[in-house]
Amino acid sequence: MVRVPQIGSTGARVNNRLGQRIAQLIEAQGPLSVAQFMTMALHDPRDGYYAARQPIGAKGDFITAPEISQMLGELLGLWCIQVWRDQGSPASARLVELGPGRGTLMADLLRAARIDPEFLAAIEILLIEASPNFQQEQARRLSGGHTAIRWLPQFDESLLDRPFFLIANEFLDALPIRQFVHTERGWCERMVTVDEECNLAFALSPVPAVLDIPPERGSAETGAVYESAPAAESLVEQVASAIAAKGGAALILDYGYGPGAGFGETLQAVSRHKFASILENPGESDLSAHVDFSAIVRAARRGGAMAYGPFGQGAFLCNLGIERRAKQLAGAGAETAMSDLDRLISLEKMAALFKALAIAPKAAPKPPGF
Ligand code: SAH
Repeated sequence: MVRVPQIGSTGARVNNRLGQRIAQLIEAQGPLSVAQFMTMALHDPRDGYYAARQPIGAKGDFITAPEISQMLGELLGLWCIQVWRDQGSPASARLVELGPGRGTLMADLLRAARIDPEFLAAIEILLIEASPNFQQEQARRLSGGHTAIRWLPQFDESLLDRPFFLIANEFLDALPIRQFVHTERGWCERMVTVDEECNLAFALSPVPAVLDIPPERGSAETGAVYESAPAAESLVEQVASAIAAKGGAALILDYGYGPGAGFGETLQAVSRHKFASILENPGESDLSAHVDFSAIVRAARRGGAMAYGPFGQGAFLCNLGIERRAKQLAGAGAETAMSDLDRLISLEKMAALFKALAIAPKAAPKPPGF
């Protein structure tokens, strides 16, 4: 292995239980890909981030749009109803959310959807959630409302037998990515290994990988980093081919980049609303990476469906009428409605990074907001 002469090349002290187990695994079996490391750090059933922590909220590690305001879930509820109606109101359909977190978005969505009892009667709700803690929290939050809610720990084929309307907010960014560094030998995969002091450290695989990098990325200098998200891409392709075959739609909201992005690394660790070390104390900080929306669009097309967007999330929410809703809430005495609106649509970070993308059958009308 060749040490990477860049960020993270100094070993991160192995100072927690999961870090020690990862180091032992590497000593026994050899280096892990960044994707394998991410999977262990996030999903180890005992010490992984989602098993052991309560990540979302002011007291957690990060905040998400549905936690900022009820308006997001409400508008997405109306979005689902409109798309369901545009496709002929199928009598047996599913409403699916990937990674519902604390269940806030779904609770707001279902409350808004009460304006259409036919929609609510037609759908079975399915929540795809890997974390047992979050599953419990979602069950608490959503109990008492719609009765037919099922959980699955991951997306699987049992979902593909009828039309589904799928929402994924900040889900794809949590799926594992692989990283490749451009060297004189070619693109070498960045791995996680153990250094002489038994610390976790990044290193490069000596054998170059054969990659199909889209030409739109431009030319790569030595040291350039290319990230690929095979898990996100294959999930989106599966979703798109089910939508093409059975009908339905998907709405993906996330942060990431579109065409013309060039190269660069975006994998980040966040703990208590601040950036943290990726390798140190695995399982104690959230790991995520920017979503490559161009790759997601290509995956949706490979699945045989239409992709709309990516659109800036602020523009998408404005098209759905978020400003009117904020004024209505403010008029009814919700003091933070206008500043929440600001956070959702116009704050620099949200506006530049957050995007919306929809997937629908080629023959279906364009989904609202695009
Ligand atoms: N959508 C929520 C939570 C985003 S955090 C919000 O916007 O607030 C990411 C969510 O995806 C968490 O609920 C996490 O437990 C879940 N998750 C991450 N990886 C997953 C996987 N591979 N399968 C299923 N759920 C996953």
